[in-house]
Amino acid sequence: MNWENKVRKVVPYTPGEQPKIGGIIKLNTNENPYPPSPAAKAALEAFDTDEMRLYPAPDASELVDAIAETYGVKSSQVFVGVGSDDVISMAFMTFFNSGEPVLFPDITYSFYDVWADVYRIPYRQIPLTADFRINADDYIQPNGGIIFPNPNAPTGVLESVDTIEKIVKANPDSVVIIDEAYIDFGGTSVLPLTAKYENLLVVQTFSKSRNMAGMRIGFAIGSEKLIKYMNDVKFSVNSYTMNRVTIKCGAAAVRDREYLAQTSGKIIATRETAKKELAKRGFTFPDSMSNFIFAKPSKAPAKTVFEKLKERRIFVRYWDKPVIGDYLRITIGTDDEMNALYRALDEIFEEEGK
Ligand code: PMP
Repeated sequence: MNWENKVRKVVPYTPGEQPKIGGIIKLNTNENPYPPSPAAKAALEAFDTDEMRLYPAPDASELVDAIAETYGVKSSQVFVGVGSDDVISMAFMTFFNSGEPVLFPDITYSFYDVWADVYRIPYRQIPLTADFRINADDYIQPNGGIIFPNPNAPTGVLESVDTIEKIVKANPDSVVIIDEAYIDFGGTSVLPLTAKYENLLVVQTFSKSRNMAGMRIGFAIGSEKLIKYMNDVKFSVNSYTMNRVTIKCGAAAVRDREYLAQTSGKIIATRETAKKELAKRGFTFPDSMSNFIFAKPSKAPAKTVFEKLKERRIFVRYWDKPVIGDYLRITIGTDDEMNALYRALDEIFEEEGK
């Protein structure tokens, strides 16, 4: 019975909880509290179920073209996948293919080390500075590739275009992937740099600022060469990743830039208020430019606050790990949801006698 020796054993990524109960305030997986663009609804209503009989377009061209048009690039510079998780996973498989370690920060999206493990890619985690910043010079060393989110997760800290350009410029022999899952909440995208650097891949998602986590749409923009290499790998794994409904709804939604600006604007305003409200209650946090705040409570341990919020049906994200275990990652919800959070925190800290 030695078959188990031949199994690819991995420790999987743990996604945030998706509770099956209603009546909760869900601030744990960075979803958008607002509905998607009305254009998505219209596209869904116009969808003819007879089409379900047929395979979707393997190149998802309707969605790819809509993204290309929206971001002012050629369709041959756009790759789409089942959420940015699928896009990044494909990018790991395609680009991180040397014996040298891939570099990413030690506090970052906790899927990167999982993909590296599953694909047997060596990696090195680079410590952030004490105030959770990325030091560009740390990424100037031999490597098999580089990836980090900007803003970083779960810290919410945004790095400048100059910092990223310095890293890309210093690494012409590797692919540098910038995961811009949260860029629309006040950051400046490095997308324009893809015209200048053939080795820069920028990944974004419809799950956060585009209010469509449930539809699973992610995309990457880069040089035609990078995208061609990714598509070659994708078509060697699964040709039909994007279903017909997703393609139609995604294409309609991405064109609605005004709606994106409106809802992101609301979240940014709520986030700025949240910074004040959390600070008033003794939390400290790095300045966030995303749709969440990585906040350390001073009046009770993070784990206690997490559990007591959960008892009150308010879900935030907590990792029982060194360093980040002192923090809660709180997604920005609607103003009403955030007000309920502040009331619950006041109750909890009163119970804790602070
Ligand atoms: N990158 C980062 C930094 C994230 O936080 C997330 C959300 N878990 C993703 C990528 C993946 O998001 P999705 O697959 O929904 O596009």
